[in-house]
Amino acid sequence: MKIEKIEIFKGTVYYKAPFKISLGTSEQSDEVLIKITDTEGNWGLGEAGPASRITGETQGTVIEASKLIASFLIGQETEDIPILNEKIESSILRNSSAKAAFDIALYDLLSRKYKIPLYKFLGAYRESIITDVTIGIMDIESAVKKATYLKNIGIKRIKMKVGENIVEDYRRVEAVRNAVGDNIEIFIDANQGWSPGEAVRNLELFDNLNIEFVEQPVKAWDIDGLAYVRNKGPLPVMADESVHSPEDAIKIVKAEAADFINIKLMKSGGIHNAKKIADISEAAGIPNMVGCMMEGAIGIAAGIHFSLHHRNVKFVDLDSDLDMKNTLTGGKILPLKGSYRTSDGYPGLGDLNLNPEEVQLVSTISKSGDFKSF
Ligand SMILES: [Mg+2]
Repeated sequence: MKIEKIEIFKGTVYYKAPFKISLGTSEQSDEVLIKITDTEGNWGLGEAGPASRITGETQGTVIEASKLIASFLIGQETEDIPILNEKIESSILRNSSAKAAFDIALYDLLSRKYKIPLYKFLGAYRESIITDVTIGIMDIESAVKKATYLKNIGIKRIKMKVGENIVEDYRRVEAVRNAVGDNIEIFIDANQGWSPGEAVRNLELFDNLNIEFVEQPVKAWDIDGLAYVRNKGPLPVMADESVHSPEDAIKIVKAEAADFINIKLMKSGGIHNAKKIADISEAAGIPNMVGCMMEGAIGIAAGIHFSLHHRNVKFVDLDSDLDMKNTLTGGKILPLKGSYRTSDGYPGLGDLNLNPEEVQLVSTISKSGDFKSF
C-alpha cells in the first residue's frame, strides 16, 4: 500500500499544575499530530512534542518541517520501513520531534493494519513495565503531599527535579524520602543545572538519602563534565539531554561518561533511532531509561510500546499524559496499573484516535500534490 494522504494537526494540552524544572516553568504543551493514510484507508497517528530548550523546536517549526517531510513520503510504500526512515532522516537536518511524529505514525499504521499492538509488531520482550512519576521543583509541603499520594496509589519509583537551589533541593528530597520511607526508589534529575564541580559537591549531600542515580547533572554538550561527575561523584550518572542520536550515544560510550542513557523518542527522531541507541547502549553494558517530554497520549503510547519491545530498557519515565487536563485523543490513554504501564491490547498504539474538539487541521498533503516546498 502506498502513502496517499498526510494530515498535519495542531493542538494544546494543558497541565493540571505548572511544571517547573531547572530549565524553566511551563503550563502547557503545544503539540503537532500527524495522521498518515494509505491507499486502502489504513491510517496511523504520530505526535510531536516540541521542547524548545531541548530539541530547538516549537509548534510552528514542527508544522513547517512536517510539510517538508510529508512531501518526501507521499506515494511511498508503507512497508518499506528502511526507505521511509532514510527519507525522513534526509528530508531535513535535526527537527527530531517532527521526525518522531512521522516515524510513530508509520509504525502505528503498519501495526494497526496487521491488527497487533505495536510492541508485538516490533517484537515483544515484556507485557508491562514499571514507570516512575516525576515531581517537579515545588515547595516542600506540595512535594511531600504529591509523593505521599503517589505512594498510596502504588507508585514504586519517584523522580524528583533538582538543579535550581541546592539547599531547597536537598530539603525537598529529604522530606520526600522521610515521607515515603525506604521502599520507594528515588531518582534525581538536575536538567543541566550544575557545573561539574558543583555537581560533585552537591551530590555528596544527597548521598545519605538512598538515591538511585542522578540524571543530567551538567550541560548537554559537556561530555567530559559528565564523565568527571561519574568518576568523582557518589552516584551513578544518567545522560539525558547529552544523547539525542545514536551518534551521541557512541560519544558517551567512548568517553565512559554515563552509567545509564535516557532515550526519548522526541530527541531521537522516533522508534527506529531509539532502537539504534538501545542497541548501542546494550552492547556497551549501559541500561536505558525511556523518558518523555510533556507529551500527550500518542507520544506516551509510543514510548510505552518501545519500552515493552526493547530488553535493554530498565527504567521508564512515561507519565506526562497523566498530568494533563485535556487530551487531544479520543478513546483511552494507555493504562497505569499500580506502578505499571501496559498496552491495552488494541492494534497499533492502542484505542486512540483524534479528538476533533481538541485538534485543528493545519495542512493536508496528498498524492495529487497540493503542497510543494521547492
Ligand atoms: Mg531528564
